Amino acid sequence: MLVTGASSGIGRCFAEQLAPLAERLVVVARDRPRLEALAKELEAVHECRVEVEAADLSSEGDCDRLCEALERDTPDLLINNAGFGTRGSFAELPIDGELREVATNVVAPMRLLRACLPGMIARNSGAVIQVSSLASELSSPFAATYGATKAFLTHFTESIYEELRESEVRIQALLPGFTRTEFQRRAGVESSKVPDFAWMTAEAVVSASLASLCRDEAVCIPGRRYKALHKLTRLVPRGPLRQSLGMKRFR
Ligand code: NAP
Repeated sequence: MLVTGASSGIGRCFAEQLAPLAERLVVVARDRPRLEALAKELEAVHECRVEVEAADLSSEGDCDRLCEALERDTPDLLINNAGFGTRGSFAELPIDGELREVATNVVAPMRLLRACLPGMIARNSGAVIQVSSLASELSSPFAATYGATKAFLTHFTESIYEELRESEVRIQALLPGFTRTEFQRRAGVESSKVPDFAWMTAEAVVSASLASLCRDEAVCIPGRRYKALHKLTRLVPRGPLRQSLGMKRFR
């Protein structure tokens, strides 16, 4: 099994929930010391070998290295989770950061998936979870690149799900809502603006995702409230919905 973005938040939680089920778990992120601490923690409790792979997924070279390893030795489960968001008016955000966001949130998961699928298809088994976002279903003024990267991921994953229909290989797009992790701080979002009831824990998100994978669902929206909200947004006309999301209180 391989989890990207395992040094914190949802990815770390995937690693914690998968370790009891895995013989070998590869954890990927940039922060090697955090990954090593996690590996030590997990190996102390579970009979799982945890390997640390420090990699910057926005870097072509690091992605090449990881893809070669995945082609040689394809895991039974790939969790494409690493990602981040930038915030602000697109016209003012530095383009380098936006391009790094596309590389990390779109290009890297696409490349890792492409590296794994032939091996999984040949074995006729395996699964992939693509950590997208509920934001993929809405326009995202002032987080335009983030919303677009996640829209790509959800759309792409649903299409691949159908391409894999004849095989036993599974793929899921995971669409969490607000989840308490380091994401908001890194994105410069004021978490206090989000009401308490809107938050989910990373543990609940990961449990919902793994349960949904067992049911072979193409899309997983964790939490009853977010499922209902998702249905509701589909009923609201696109223009007014988009306009309201651009209003100051949502920034
Ligand atoms: P987080 O706590 O900030 O974790 C993000 C993880 O991604 C970290 O392990 C980080 O590790 C890794 N990462 C970021 N850039 C990377 C890069 N260039 N190369 C390798 N690893 C990188 O946030 P999170 O909420 O758990 O985010 C996980 C996923 O959930 C993301 O794809 C995010 O878009 C999605 N999501 C989050 C929320 C939410 O409200 N939290 C909602 C919907 C979707 P290093 O810094 O060590 O590299």
